[in-house]
Amino acid sequence: MPKLSRRTFILGSVAAGLLTMPGIATAALRYPFELGVASGDPRPDGMVLWTRLAPAPLDVGGGMGTANVAVQWEISKDANFATIAASGTETAVAGEAHSVHAEPRGLAAGTEYYYRFKTGEHVSPVGRTKTAPAAGVEPASVTFAMASCAHFEEGWYHAYRGIANDDPDLVLFLGDYMYEKQSGQSTKVRGYVDFDETDTLDEYRVRYAQHKTDPYLQAAHAAAPWLAVFDDHELKNNWWGYQSDVTATRKQAAFQAFWENMPMPKSMKPANAAIPLYRRVGWGSLARFHMMDTRQYRWKQAPNNNNTNCTELNRTDRTLTGVAQEKWLLDGLAAGGSRWDFLGQQVFFASQDNDGAASTCDVNEDAWDGYPASRKRIAQGIVDRHVRNPIVLTGDVHRHWANDLRVNYFDHASPLFGSELVTTSVTSNGGTGTPAGLDKNPHLHYVANKRGYVRVTFTPAQLTAEFMTVSSVFEKDPAKVTIGVEKRYVVQDGVAGLHSA
Ligand code: FE
Ligand code: CA
Repeated sequence: MPKLSRRTFILGSVAAGLLTMPGIATAALRYPFELGVASGDPRPDGMVLWTRLAPAPLDVGGGMGTANVAVQWEISKDANFATIAASGTETAVAGEAHSVHAEPRGLAAGTEYYYRFKTGEHVSPVGRTKTAPAAGVEPASVTFAMASCAHFEEGWYHAYRGIANDDPDLVLFLGDYMYEKQSGQSTKVRGYVDFDETDTLDEYRVRYAQHKTDPYLQAAHAAAPWLAVFDDHELKNNWWGYQSDVTATRKQAAFQAFWENMPMPKSMKPANAAIPLYRRVGWGSLARFHMMDTRQYRWKQAPNNNNTNCTELNRTDRTLTGVAQEKWLLDGLAAGGSRWDFLGQQVFFASQDNDGAASTCDVNEDAWDGYPASRKRIAQGIVDRHVRNPIVLTGDVHRHWANDLRVNYFDHASPLFGSELVTTSVTSNGGTGTPAGLDKNPHLHYVANKRGYVRVTFTPAQLTAEFMTVSSVFEKDPAKVTIGVEKRYVVQDGVAGLHSA
């Protein structure tokens, strides 16, 4: 059972008592925007604007009690809000952790906006966001950041600071926004509040709130719209969804807390232990982002039989995506209409077969290597649909990687059909040692065991991926921490394969 501290419980109860008194519920007693603001899932005519009222973020209930609270929002083309482009009122519902998911419509396409919230006498920080370009319009250049794996205890969030300073058009978050468990590392820069593994809704909510107190994470949210998906740690390490190892109650709690804390539309609110996470976002005629879910529908990981019995792993009906999502992805890719197609997803896509031999299965069973038939259906599906520039975007492994993609990785002379960019962790420990089999997997070009993020800039002619690293996650002082380009690769339009630049 969860172990919430007595102090937390009492403070939460006192706050609940006060806020349910008549006349007080409309205005929080203390400044309620401690978790910052965010935006996400941009469309040509709008996006989601997010905040969550929590004057006491680490207390159960966030210091808000059980009353619902009215929150006003405003969006403007200028940071001073001289002219309001759209505004409205949302109800921050106690049953949704007083989160707000406002969805303005009728905005101009491909346009920068600023937004803020108000409740009572309190005004939130100002966020910057953007609408997507209109369908058919080709922007000259787009920049997005990719990030994953941000264990709160394992480092300071300088990578998020770097992302905020870059002012990207978009941020893709690819999983492990938080961790359900305390760090096992000997070096921790800060600690989670006092329950160990999150498994109730209150615990997941407090866990998110604790992350969101970080100023660099708030800055990264306030800088650009996010497209976020979860991986495993937002629920439980290495969980699988089909005939799952986790209870429906715990799934619902984790999904609910994720939705409450992310700038995702109301239509994505989870119910009955399911969340409609995979979705597609267009960026004019230049790009589409196919945001995938490799957890909810996956089969259980194949057993690791010391690589001698690959029968389960090689089953032709094994799936990582589920049948419906696979069809959704391939049908979407077949529809075409964009020059660059990004598959934003969680786990390592290219083969990293340690001995380079097809007869064994010395692989990471949690990644696509553990679902080779599923991967092959997608890879061959991409080839068959003549997708112009498929780029897979990945998190999970706490290291930077740059990979080329083949249908058959054991035939080193076979053609490439795309590339994969893997972002390292924001903070989470990258382990030790050099990956085995690099020489046996010539499609794996680059690996770096440093913390950071990936910055991608693309035009109609070319994509440039910059593997960004921070000099330390253990040093708190930003003046002593440098953020820079560790390695740069380019992909030319219409030509599969990475080139060092
Ligand atoms: Fe991770
Ligand atoms: Ca092998």
